[in-house]
This record gives sequence, C-alpha cells and structure tokens, in this order.
Amino acid sequence: MSFSVNIDAGLMNSGGTNSKTGSYQLVIAGGGPAALSAAIYAARYGITHVVLESWKPGGQAALTAEIENYPGFSSIAGSDLTNAMKKQAVEAGAVFVMETVESTTEINGKIKIKTDSAEYTTDYLIIATGAAPATLGVPGESKYYGRGVSFCATCDAPFFRNKKAIVVGGGDSAVKEALHLTHVVSELGLVHRRDKLRAEPLLANKLINNEKVTPYWNSQLAEVVGDDQGVTGVILNTPDGKKHIDTDGVFLYVGTVPATEPFAGLVDLDAKKAVATQNIVGTSNPRVFAAGDVTNNGFRQVVTAVSEGARASAAVFELLEMQE
Ligand code: NAP
Repeated sequence: MSFSVNIDAGLMNSGGTNSKTGSYQLVIAGGGPAALSAAIYAARYGITHVVLESWKPGGQAALTAEIENYPGFSSIAGSDLTNAMKKQAVEAGAVFVMETVESTTEINGKIKIKTDSAEYTTDYLIIATGAAPATLGVPGESKYYGRGVSFCATCDAPFFRNKKAIVVGGGDSAVKEALHLTHVVSELGLVHRRDKLRAEPLLANKLINNEKVTPYWNSQLAEVVGDDQGVTGVILNTPDGKKHIDTDGVFLYVGTVPATEPFAGLVDLDAKKAVATQNIVGTSNPRVFAAGDVTNNGFRQVVTAVSEGARASAAVFELLEMQE
C-alpha cells in the first residue's frame, strides 16, 4: 500500500501565485483562517498588502473533515469554509502569493521578509502561520510516513477503506479525525496516554460509543512496525506491558508545533515557541501582530483565529491612520 498526504485537498488556488516582490504597508504571513480574516479586513481597509500563504492554503482548518462549531454552519467541511473565506478575501481585493517565509529582520523601522523566491519590505507584519502536527519520534514513525503513517485522516482515509487503523492522541483533532475514520475503516484503535480524553465531551462520547472503536487507555505508541508494503502493526506500552496490535494505518494527533522559526529574532516566543502575545494580537515588537494557532492565546478554534486576524488588521489600520 502506498499513499501520499494531499495537503492541497480540495483547496482553491485562485487569487494569484506570482511573486509580488516590493514594499507594502502590511504583509500577512499565513494561509489559514486567521490570515484569511486578516486579509479580508486589510483589503477592505484599503491597506497596501500582500498575503504570503505558503504551500498549504487554508491551513490546518482546511484539512479538517467536518467543522461543527463555527457559527452559522452546524456542519461544514473545513476546506469548504476556508475556500469561502479566501474567495471573500480575493473579492475584497486581497492579494495572495504562494511563498513560504524563510527569514525576517527589522532594518531602519521597516521589516524585511525573505521568502523561498522573493523579498518584501513592510511597515507592519501579521504572523498567522499557524502550527504543524507534532511528531512522537518513535521508531518507524518517519520510516512509514506516507506508507501507513499519516497526520491527516481527512486526506488519507480513503486508503484505509475496510482496513484497520489506529489513532494516537486524545484532543479535539484526534477525536474528530477518528470519527471521520469510523465511516471508512473496519476497526479503529484509539491510543491515549491517559484514561480521559481532552476533547469536547459530546464528540468524545460519540467516538467511544462507536462499535468499531477499541480504546487503549494509559498507553503510549512505542513503535510502528511494517514491511516493504508499509505499516503492519504497532507496539504499545500499556499498563500490562508491551502489546503488539495489527493495523494498516497509524494517524498521529499528539498536538501541534507553532510555525515560528522565521520570526524568532523579530518577536518574543514563549517556552513552547508560540508567539507571546500582549492584548491578544500585539507582540513584543510594535510593528508585528500575531493571530491564530501560532500564538499562545490558548483557545485554538477557527472562530478565535478569525477574530484575532480581524483585530490584527484593525490594529494596523489604526496605526497607519495615526501616521497620516
Ligand atoms: P491538543 O489539544 O494539544 O491534544 C493533543 C493530544 O495529544 C492530547 O490528548 C495529549 O495528551 C496528546 N499528547 C501530547 N503529547 C503526547 C505524547 N508525547 N504522547 C502521547 N500523547 C500525547 O492538540 P489538538 O487536538 O491538535 O488540538 C490543538 C488545538 O486545536 C486545541 O486547542 C483544540 O481544542 C483545537 N482544535 C479544535 C477543534 C474544533 O473543532 N473545535 C478541532 C481540532 C483542534 P493529554 O490529553 O494527556 O495532554
């Protein structure tokens, strides 16, 4: 078995992909809900700007099968929601390029941004680069990545139709993606290091009561094992000792790592490398704002990300108005 993670699943690429190298009032780094909301507001305020949306438009939200708690939609596919946000931003006049920020510096009151293919100068920067899935670093995890190990059930579930899979983690991501997998797989193991799920109780109970699901409480993934074809099983550390479980797929949802590396010298980060915010979207650098999962704001939801993106662009607009 072989599969690849489709990071662009269902995503819309309109809105421009050619470099817009130059000088702007605002650069927005990121492509998820926080950046898209910041882009809508920046465009409507008439701020000269460019959005560096990198290679994963829509961010993590776009890789979520169903979002059930975004006001206005009792259930919507994550990619449908972020595609609608991007369409709205483009219609408002937002300018997007698919470039990844590599480094940032501040020179003479301007922020210089180097991407994988261009350079930008800006008065203000909104960091909305989100977070990437964390890894466990156990044997077999990277070896079988794309051959049974995945961080995206929404993308890869079809490869596991009528097969066995295991989800590791107990947060909202693990539970939501596990629920998505129950529609496809024949059996699903849920491996959690404690005996209580962190996820929203409504969904957690729905998952645990699903007849296809076997929970492995107080257990840790110790190793992913396989052969030339891909994953064949996992070894768990359980309260009863090591246990081998046959499985075709392993989906890891053990938290996230904020995408802050290119901004490390520009703003203060907290101990977990998230942007340390002040008054929700401010940072240690008065020319830099931050929004969404890249921050240490805590409550990581689409609804809070879009709120923070809007507030960040509004803060930039106020500062620009004061300069006039
Ligand atoms: P999370 O909430 O940090 O959960 C990570 C899970 O992985 C936890 O259950 C944690 O166990 C477990 N874990 C962490 N390190 C581990 C390790 N070394 N070994 C084994 N297990 C480990 O991450 P998330 O689920 O990706 O969610 C991130 C944020 O996005 C959260 O704020 C979440 O609420 C939000 N989110 C919201 C939605 C939504 O629709 N509302 C959907 C997805 C995500 P412990 O529980 O023991 O710490």
